[in-house]
Amino acid sequence: MKTIAQIAAELQGYDPQALPAKAVLDFLQRLVTAVTESSNQPLFDALGKVLSADVISPMDVPPHDNSAMDGYAFDGSQLQADVPLTLKVVGTALAGKAWMGTAGAGDCVKIMTGAIMPAGFDTVVPQELVTQLGGETAAVVIPPGLLKPGDNRRLRGEDLAQGRPALLKGQVVTPARLGLAASLGLPSLPCWRPLRVAYFSTGDEILSLGEAPREGAVYDSNRYTTFGLLKRLGCEVIDMGVIKDDPTLLEAAFRSAAAQADAIITSGGVSVGEADYTKAMMKKLGDVAFWRIAMRPGRPMAVGRIAAESNQKTGAVLFGLPGNPVAVMVTFLAFVRPALLQMMGCTDSPAPLLKAHSQEPMRKKAGRTEYQRGWVSTAADGSLQVRTTGNQGSGVLSSMAEANGLIMLHHSQGNVAVGDLLDVMMFDGAI
Ligand code: AMP
Ligand code: MG
Repeated sequence: MKTIAQIAAELQGYDPQALPAKAVLDFLQRLVTAVTESSNQPLFDALGKVLSADVISPMDVPPHDNSAMDGYAFDGSQLQADVPLTLKVVGTALAGKAWMGTAGAGDCVKIMTGAIMPAGFDTVVPQELVTQLGGETAAVVIPPGLLKPGDNRRLRGEDLAQGRPALLKGQVVTPARLGLAASLGLPSLPCWRPLRVAYFSTGDEILSLGEAPREGAVYDSNRYTTFGLLKRLGCEVIDMGVIKDDPTLLEAAFRSAAAQADAIITSGGVSVGEADYTKAMMKKLGDVAFWRIAMRPGRPMAVGRIAAESNQKTGAVLFGLPGNPVAVMVTFLAFVRPALLQMMGCTDSPAPLLKAHSQEPMRKKAGRTEYQRGWVSTAADGSLQVRTTGNQGSGVLSSMAEANGLIMLHHSQGNVAVGDLLDVMMFDGAI
């Protein structure tokens, strides 16, 4: 396991006092490692977990050639470009059963959606396209020019072929992937153990819910945003509330968190000039870097590892986030979330950023990444547009609560004019 100093030495131009967002991601990618324990999870428990192995299809899906329509199955080689085809109806194939009769040229079999194709037949004419001929022997007439051989037939194995990977290691189990596992008859899926993440807020001015308001004090909102962000990621949370600015309490909290969790998220107490004990305790108990990131909001952040016991070198990964409520959410989404996904063993590619036209000019300083709370909507011409959601102060949670995405103004980007195309990280799927 690499130390903070070793990782820093690997990165070109690493400057902890003005770290570009890209360098933060590079650093974290080198710092964290994926969980190694896995187990089989019943399908209902597998949702949101990460697959720890490829899932090989034990069978062909569908297992037989079958009909995609209610209609009549026949041998499609008899179709002619401009002559109607008249076929004798010699039986009925129902879904879930094989039709046991024999049929040949000039014959057809009435067939239901999902029924196995009779031997020798490769084409289905939908019911509504034929003309029924009454009389002694039922027959149907297919008008010319509507069908070609193979139409309306699903091929055996066209969804999944036996012996081929149906799901891949590193994929998050989504509703579609759950359904796919079920379609293969698999009652459980191999999953990595969920991450355990401990979090607490620091600061003497932070009140827990239920405490009486007092001057200069604020309620702990970071506890709840962090809880929500972690739950949405599928993490097991260890909620430690507010830890007061007291070395004994802080040491106990860090030790206990490191003993139980894969990662620790704290908020507050990492900015320059902080008169509290949080930073000192991080230094004492772990191998921690203190950064000023070239970003807004955010900026201060501590990253490293905290040992559960004094003789330990490894321990839990620490994300020491700033205290401001919006800065917590932004640094979580920008940096902590990708790092946690890596720890979860997830290799799904990140959701793409959306491109939307700015509805307003924005001031932007080149040389730092700025995140604005935005609302993306569809313009009259059908294109996407984005506006900011009011006061962008780093403590203003209301504009975050009104937003449906974060506008990302990249490191070297300058001022924004109306109509400029901007990148937006949509909350849907992220939070
Ligand atoms: P700090 O990073 O500790 O200097 O905190 C920056 C600002 O965020 C201060 O105004 C704090 O009162 C506020 N803050 C810190 N922690 C929390 C929290 N858990 N909930 C709400 N606001 C907080
Ligand atoms: Mg503070």
